[in-house]
Amino acid sequence: MNDSAIWHPFTPLVGHREPLLVTSAHGCYLHTSDGRRILDAISSWWVNLHGHAHPYIAQAIASQANQLEHVIFAGFTHEPAIRLANRLLQILPSNQSKVFFSDNGSTATEVAMKMAFQYFYNQKIHKPKIIAFEGAYHGDTFGAMSVGDRSPFNAPFQPYLFEVEFVPLPNEENEESVFALFKTLISSGEIGAFIFEPLVQGASGMRMYSASWLDQAIAFAQANEVICIADEVFTGFGRTGKLFASDYLSYKPDIICLSKGITGGFMPLGVTTCTAQIQSAYYSEDILKTFFHGHSYTANPLACAAANASLELLLSEQCQSNIRHITLCHEQFIQENRHLPLVRGMRQLGTILAIEINQTGATSYFHEARNSLYYYFLDRNILLRPLGNVLYIVPPYIITDGELAWIYQELIKLLKN
Ligand SMILES: *Cc1c(COP(=O)(O)O)cnc(C)c1O
Repeated sequence: MNDSAIWHPFTPLVGHREPLLVTSAHGCYLHTSDGRRILDAISSWWVNLHGHAHPYIAQAIASQANQLEHVIFAGFTHEPAIRLANRLLQILPSNQSKVFFSDNGSTATEVAMKMAFQYFYNQKIHKPKIIAFEGAYHGDTFGAMSVGDRSPFNAPFQPYLFEVEFVPLPNEENEESVFALFKTLISSGEIGAFIFEPLVQGASGMRMYSASWLDQAIAFAQANEVICIADEVFTGFGRTGKLFASDYLSYKPDIICLSKGITGGFMPLGVTTCTAQIQSAYYSEDILKTFFHGHSYTANPLACAAANASLELLLSEQCQSNIRHITLCHEQFIQENRHLPLVRGMRQLGTILAIEINQTGATSYFHEARNSLYYYFLDRNILLRPLGNVLYIVPPYIITDGELAWIYQELIKLLKN
């Protein structure tokens, strides 16, 4: 089958192997047309929670498709969306009270920022600026790119991105100075919002930072009426060991963005939730204070049905115990292998395990190490997609001990070199 009509995402047109043709997928495995079975150690771009083609979610989508496949979401509503909204509010931090639907992670963060900016606009408050972290990734649309790291990926669009105050990601050495900078920025009175990936920056290499720093920052921001936006598009739905990374915090974000794992990897869906206070700025007779944002596939019933089914599986005792078990396995792997020669460092939060490879000059995504690592594992029928010199495992929660052990063994063989 010839794939040449397709322009693939994040894929250079020159110098890459042909994409693999996947014909089916079950559990943790992708089946390709040339008869290979590839272990998916990254949950297919971090979306899959319960394994591929999980029959329970497949069935939920099928029955929903026979009932109601789509309806315009302005002026109409439907049961799968209502159920999903209520269920999300039950498990999200208790300050969250409204659920706004879109259809992917980038739109979930765009919605969050627009919601925050218009919150002030509607009240005629001038707080035009936003704080974000260096190294952040919030998606590929213009607003999301603006608050993302100004990496070479975004260079062509640099002139079109809005101004953002960036602060370094806190670590043990700099956390006081970063906090001082954060306070200075906020004390200017010009900052309206602060957007962050809570505890783990996914795309920039599974970079982790402390919950206590973030707690302090949110406390200070909220005391100064700065809206705190947690982008949980990656960290949501159990990845960090708790249902949401925000569950590690005592101060809760005002707005939370969700996508990726929300449907278990079956359907595109984005969600932005907010507190009653955020929404209160939109209650008005003045039609111009309406939140004029929506997408054709907003709250698509099939996507909501998939999300409802996936959430049921996620909240089951079986799945929660799998998450705890993967966490323990990762911890043990780190204990036993942190001193292997090729390891510069290892870090972990819940089911996310990241290994930084010790290879001088290998820090850039563009470095050859990235490709050679990717193909090294793919040739051994394991899908790991390194971020620069960072190898990581973000497995579906149904992964077995045997499958995890296989990935660990292949990692150890490589890291021993
Ligand atoms: C992937 C990701 C996004 C973008 O989601 P898409 O569905 O790919 O648009 C936004 N924020 C974070 C933290 C992500 O990991």
